[in-house]
Amino acid sequence: MLHHERVKPPTQDYPPNRWSVVERRFRPEFMAQMETILALANGYLGMRGVPEEGSPYLQNGTFVNGFYESWPIIYAEEAFGFARTGQTMLNVTDSKIIKLFVDDEPFGLGSSNIRHYCRQLNMKSGTLDRELLWETPSGKRIRIKSRRLISFHQRHVAAISYEVTVLNAHAALVISSEVFRYQPEEHEAKNDPRQAKFSGILLQPRTSYERDRRVVLTHGTERSQMILACAVDHDLECDSPYCYKTSHTQNSGQVVFTIEAKPGRPIHLTKYMVYHTSNSATPDEISRSAEWTLDRVVSQGFTKLLAEQAEYLDQFWQTSDVQVTNVKSKRAKLSTVEMQQAIRVNLFHILQASARAENLGVAAKGVTGQAYEGHYFWDTEIYLLPFLIYTSPRTAKNLLRFRYGMLDQARARARELSHRGALFPWRTISGEEASAYYEAGTAQYHINADIIYALRKYVNATGDEEFLFQYGTEMLVETARFWYDLGFFSSRKEGRFCINGVTGPDEYKTLVNNNTYTNLMARENLRYAVETVEGLQVQQPQLLEALIRKTGLELSEVEGWRAAANKMYIPFDATTGIYPQDDSFFDREPWDFKNTPADKYPLLLFYHPLNIYRHQVIKQADVLLAMFLLGHEFSLETKKRNFDFYDPLTTGDSSLSSCIEAIVALEIGEFEKAVDYARAALLMDLADVGGNVTDGCHIASMGGTWMVFTYGFGGLRDYDGTLRFRPQRPPEPEASLRFALTYRGQVLDVEINPNSTIYSLRRGKTLVIHHEDEEITLDSTNASVTRRTSPPLKIAI
Ligand code: BGC
Repeated sequence: MLHHERVKPPTQDYPPNRWSVVERRFRPEFMAQMETILALANGYLGMRGVPEEGSPYLQNGTFVNGFYESWPIIYAEEAFGFARTGQTMLNVTDSKIIKLFVDDEPFGLGSSNIRHYCRQLNMKSGTLDRELLWETPSGKRIRIKSRRLISFHQRHVAAISYEVTVLNAHAALVISSEVFRYQPEEHEAKNDPRQAKFSGILLQPRTSYERDRRVVLTHGTERSQMILACAVDHDLECDSPYCYKTSHTQNSGQVVFTIEAKPGRPIHLTKYMVYHTSNSATPDEISRSAEWTLDRVVSQGFTKLLAEQAEYLDQFWQTSDVQVTNVKSKRAKLSTVEMQQAIRVNLFHILQASARAENLGVAAKGVTGQAYEGHYFWDTEIYLLPFLIYTSPRTAKNLLRFRYGMLDQARARARELSHRGALFPWRTISGEEASAYYEAGTAQYHINADIIYALRKYVNATGDEEFLFQYGTEMLVETARFWYDLGFFSSRKEGRFCINGVTGPDEYKTLVNNNTYTNLMARENLRYAVETVEGLQVQQPQLLEALIRKTGLELSEVEGWRAAANKMYIPFDATTGIYPQDDSFFDREPWDFKNTPADKYPLLLFYHPLNIYRHQVIKQADVLLAMFLLGHEFSLETKKRNFDFYDPLTTGDSSLSSCIEAIVALEIGEFEKAVDYARAALLMDLADVGGNVTDGCHIASMGGTWMVFTYGFGGLRDYDGTLRFRPQRPPEPEASLRFALTYRGQVLDVEINPNSTIYSLRRGKTLVIHHEDEEITLDSTNASVTRRTSPPLKIAI
């Protein structure tokens, strides 16, 4: 069910463009939204799209992924095993400020007479560009051009090229380039559980110094013992006389250029900004590292940074782009250009969230906002990794490797909860569970199976068995152990294996018995563990020996896992053909949707959890998600029946829902609903569908949007590791969809037209795929094949 239809920013001021997000006029009412959309990031460092002058803004933010402060979670009522340590990604030192004064008159977006304005996020160059013309009260016309980037190539580096030209007069110019420790304001604390929990001063000064046009500030956190250096340097090109002054305090720095500007002569300032972080370095060490990076980029210059950025993006788009042509969908209310732009904004932001997240995870909002505290969730494994696995497998591998790095903490957490094996944290930065609300946190045990699901997809799509053997097998053993220990063979359910007291993906039901999604995914987890250990036994006994040494595995355990998988209890109601979301779902009272006004969504902000929990009302796709992820376990008729049942109950109060509903709807031939959901997912951020884009990008929905086009419209399925397609015929006679998939080092191009689908092997030797029920081998003699695109299915139930 869809409640939220927001307004896209008006096209006259935000004209659609295939490769950019363009803002033609400064509109304060869209300011907060644009801070997120125009944010720059590289997965390590992120800066919101706040103007160079530093204001106006709604949430000014600079973030370093994984740079957090921890805090003791205080419970009014304690219990054993509660998560102890909260973690919040910090808003760190702001280095991007450049203020301009002409004849002592400050330039400001809210106050100055701006004759021309254009800001754009350019997704080919990876820059945020701004060009404007300011007329001062005394009639001087000033052109200001800036380009900001956060380097994908050099992950610690950001830079701004800032050019000012006084077009028609001499003028006294002051350019003040500033850097300061961010200080939260009182009003920032909000009553929304999705927001970051604390404000207050969190960065403690360590060292600070200046040298020539360079300022270095280092700050540390008290409890998490992390340290951050922010160093800036400047280069000024100008043929007018100027002087400059550098100053700093513990928490701020400033380089002020005073220039006697000549008419028509550009003054060009380049600001280089470097961030380094550590949890072991001393202030001296970290500032030295920052200075080395700074020395290098200053000597290389901005042009080099720009060229590297464009090259990086060129490669990204070659393997990751999704293209649409001739779409004139009335239902989607989008032109081809609008749809293309929205697709690319989603993909670009995924790149910005993940590209250089090395030894780090990807937070729910990437590095564009502090909501959800900068925590890593299952969003990564279920929503983001499919895209990364099929377009940037190296990034996917890094993220899985990062999960592996949490295994010891996950083992300890399982022990704390009196279980064997390992339990990964529901939400975390450091690896420790950070959810203070165990009902919708720790109880989401499905996180274990989600990670293993992604591991399997990664191994299937890349053939990276080395990764499986080196890291995956240990995760498999510990998660399988955990499931076996968590559940039990219930005599009241004919000896079936039951898993009680869990929370599934739908956070509007907590602590239920036998959540269908969890049981299905746990079964998959157990099966993969059995299969892998048995495979080792036969083919790689020495690796099995090593695994036994590392995990203390006894082969009898595998028999238990097999039995649990075989006897897994999956709730099913034979009379209706519905898989109840859990044992008690059908017993709950239906939610009164009719009398719930549209402004009472998301329900979580207006109703006590107890009200929500006791009703049949769903936050996000749960059974339907299982029917997508494990679709081979269900017939189309079953999917349709369950879609018809669950769709009206699903509020979509989580942004993780629409994309999944769209995919299932497409598979069962509910084309119109599918388009509505696809639109909601696609525009979640650009049109602020959830009403909270100001808090940061919805990275999971962005990954889900890629899945809507590939798994949804493209009809891709990969359950057994083979690429199978059942493309959806586009409704418009001319429309087409193109995307590429990287599979075992090869690149496959897929182009879906209304009557034909073309599969081309762009790179690689041999690739076996399936189009509908036909097996096709692509190789050098048969690199491209064309097949008929079938009409949508009609499923009768
Ligand atoms: C959703 C979770 C999700 C989290 C972070 C919540 O609202 O219910 O499934 O992991 O947001 O995106």
